[in-house]
Amino acid sequence: MIIRVSSNDYMLKILSTYKLYADTNIFLQNSWEKCKEIIFPRLAQCNRKLIVLGSVMAELRKLANATDKLAVACRAQKAINDINSLVAQKLIRIEGDDASFADHDFLSTFTTRRLSENIVLLSADKGLLEDVDRLNYSESVRSYRRILVWYQESSGFINTRWAKRPKNDQAKVPAEQRYCVTCGKPFYLSAAHRYFLETKGIAIPIHCDDCGNLIKKIAEKGRFLKGVGRFFGNL
Ligand SMILES: [Zn+2]
Repeated sequence: MIIRVSSNDYMLKILSTYKLYADTNIFLQNSWEKCKEIIFPRLAQCNRKLIVLGSVMAELRKLANATDKLAVACRAQKAINDINSLVAQKLIRIEGDDASFADHDFLSTFTTRRLSENIVLLSADKGLLEDVDRLNYSESVRSYRRILVWYQESSGFINTRWAKRPKNDQAKVPAEQRYCVTCGKPFYLSAAHRYFLETKGIAIPIHCDDCGNLIKKIAEKGRFLKGVGRFFGNL
């Protein structure tokens, strides 16, 4: 079922009870100006902020430095300026470290945060929306919070279900409890997240989020490694 997110009451209801996250591409689309008009007055009304992950900022900085693609670089720089100005206006908050690969970061962040937060992801990337929506079918959640995934289009957002309910009853596969090889703390790997990692050829994590982020930060020393996704779990 597709719902065009246009009703003011519906948006206010969601924005007052959900935490809104933005993917990198949201800021790079022509429709960003239109989206700003839709989102920010309502967020302000609900006394809420749009959340931008540190990994998204890192991705934008990387694009802004891509001298071989000037049009993209200009757009990314404009996005960074825009975000900084919205941070100053207390309409955006930046959360999380900047060492991760954004798509992976959304999945690992949401896997944990959905236990305690209602989440909406705004993105123009149907692939990511599908991957995130798939988390809704995982058992790791142990809650009934459903992550909403809103697709950005020219005139606003579409709220729909992007992932098909898994035929093989993947939903019934319980989350795997693993133990961090560094600190020994337990962490959970949902069947959906494992599926995502396996299909992308990314190694299964052996560290908890805290240790993984710290190790990545040290290893990368601020460099944004090409294909960094391959290293997750191996560091
Ligand atoms: Zn650990």
